Amino acid sequence: MSSKKALQTMADLYKEMGSNQLYTEQPQDHRQTAMAHAPIAKASKQAAFRQANDHGKTVYEGEARNLADACGSLEELRKAVMAFDGCEIKKMAVNTVFADGNPKAEVMLVGEAPGANEDQQGIPFCGQSGKLLDNILASIGLSRQNAYITNTIFWRPPGNRRPTPEELRICRPFVEKHIALVGPKLIILVGSTAVEALLENTMSMHEMRGQYYTYHNRYLKQPIQTAVIFHPSYLLRQQSKKKEMWLDVQKIKYELLNNK
Ligand code: URA
Repeated sequence: MSSKKALQTMADLYKEMGSNQLYTEQPQDHRQTAMAHAPIAKASKQAAFRQANDHGKTVYEGEARNLADACGSLEELRKAVMAFDGCEIKKMAVNTVFADGNPKAEVMLVGEAPGANEDQQGIPFCGQSGKLLDNILASIGLSRQNAYITNTIFWRPPGNRRPTPEELRICRPFVEKHIALVGPKLIILVGSTAVEALLENTMSMHEMRGQYYTYHNRYLKQPIQTAVIFHPSYLLRQQSKKKEMWLDVQKIKYELLNNK
């Protein structure tokens, strides 16, 4: 294959994946990058645009809050999320990925965001990292029959980038109501984005894992005990962390058995 053709094939592949640039290690806020490179002469126009845009985000957060406030059942919430158009990334997604598992479960897991497989199938954690998560859960007697799984946002971020703080903020009212309607005894936050979104804690995962926290939001009558585990996709990259994960889930098993 000529190098030009190879480059084109790669560009097509990235486009198909929903990404408009090559992979970078750190999450990118493309709007910030675009701003940084814009000519100074356009600054005032951009400021006006940004103001309008920020206003839009606030409106969408408010809209999400009003919708979440009004939902009295999981089915109402699912329908409200499906119909919600306030999160830009929905335009690029195939599916809204709401949840999987048993809504009557005592254990609720919250992951980061749908990936490519989840977007195609509309089911959280159904790709490679989902298979690993299923195996981890199985090791402590949990499955989608006795656990419930969702994410901090409901649409796949293009190129599988990390959700932006705005996206997390816009979806938060739905996530909060989601937790209240399921009413689990234990929440398991899967990975650092879920921790950032729900506990608003910026400590590292290494500091937070293996301990319990209390999660509270305006829809809950009482706080919920919350455990923090590494994200399975991190384990796929860092096999050496499997031991910590094993220890963490044993603690969770012990806690669940003791609270029966
Ligand atoms: N990673 C997540 O955090 N959630 C999914 O649903 C899939 C992969």
